[in-house]
Amino acid sequence: SSAIQVEDLYVSYHGNTALKDVTFSLEAGNLLGIIGPNGAGKSTLIKALLQLIPRDKGQVTFLDKTVKEIRKQVAYVPQRNDIDWDFPITVLETVLLGTYPKIGMFKRPKKNDKEWAYECLKEVGMEQFYKRQIGELSGGQQQRVFLARALAQKAELFFLDEPFVGVDLGSEETIINILKRLSNQGKTVTVVHHDLSKAENYFNKLLLINRELIGFGSVNEVFRPEI
Ligand code: ADP
Ligand code: ADP
Repeated sequence: SSAIQVEDLYVSYHGNTALKDVTFSLEAGNLLGIIGPNGAGKSTLIKALLQLIPRDKGQVTFLDKTVKEIRKQVAYVPQRNDIDWDFPITVLETVLLGTYPKIGMFKRPKKNDKEWAYECLKEVGMEQFYKRQIGELSGGQQQRVFLARALAQKAELFFLDEPFVGVDLGSEETIINILKRLSNQGKTVTVVHHDLSKAENYFNKLLLINRELIGFGSVNEVFRPEI
């Protein structure tokens, strides 16, 4: 059974094709890099998989279930541009949203949940900032907090859109190490990344895309295909 199964996916914006004919299947426990140039449709692919935008055509299942059925098992960290950094919310509250996807803001957190959120902040080395406003932090700190929010959700599948943009090297290393550990624990991690330079060290599977699938497979298969 596959963690992510995508068949014949098509997406367009106002009649303009953004993605066509995307088909692939990923086993659980992989750390997948989605790589392609700007405008290639990487964010569109993630959003279409998560049903945040409509598909023109195509089937998507996660662990053999529909996205709707398994939503609580799916953690998503949007790209920087899609997050409102002026929203007045503390670091701990941001992480608590992971424990209460959707209804988060309206539920009074229990002591246990706060402790769990704090544990998740420790994982990413951000516990000392728990009372700060999310908007006051550096890019790397913000991205680590969003990873903590994803961890708080105890998900099976993780999707991160450009988590290294505007992030210092230390935070980048912290983030990739946690993602590697999650995949070693059998979680399935998918990361949008815009360049190939570190892809070989960061991911064990790659999906190269430019409006359609250019390549999919292990790092060796994609970089050194047999002739
Ligand atoms: P990316 O790094 O994914 O290319 P962009 O800077 O292009 O991000 O887009 C930022 C946000 O604007 C995203 O939410 C994207 O969906 C949206 N967006 C991008 N292109 C357009 C467009 N032509 N019309 C409307 N919204 C767009
Ligand atoms: P990437 O993430 O690879 O940079 P995107 O998925 O953001 O690419 O965008 C793919 C294409 O779709 C781009 O041409 C972009 O301008 C367009 N696009 C993205 N979001 C929107 C949107 N909300 N409305 C219209 N066009 C969009």
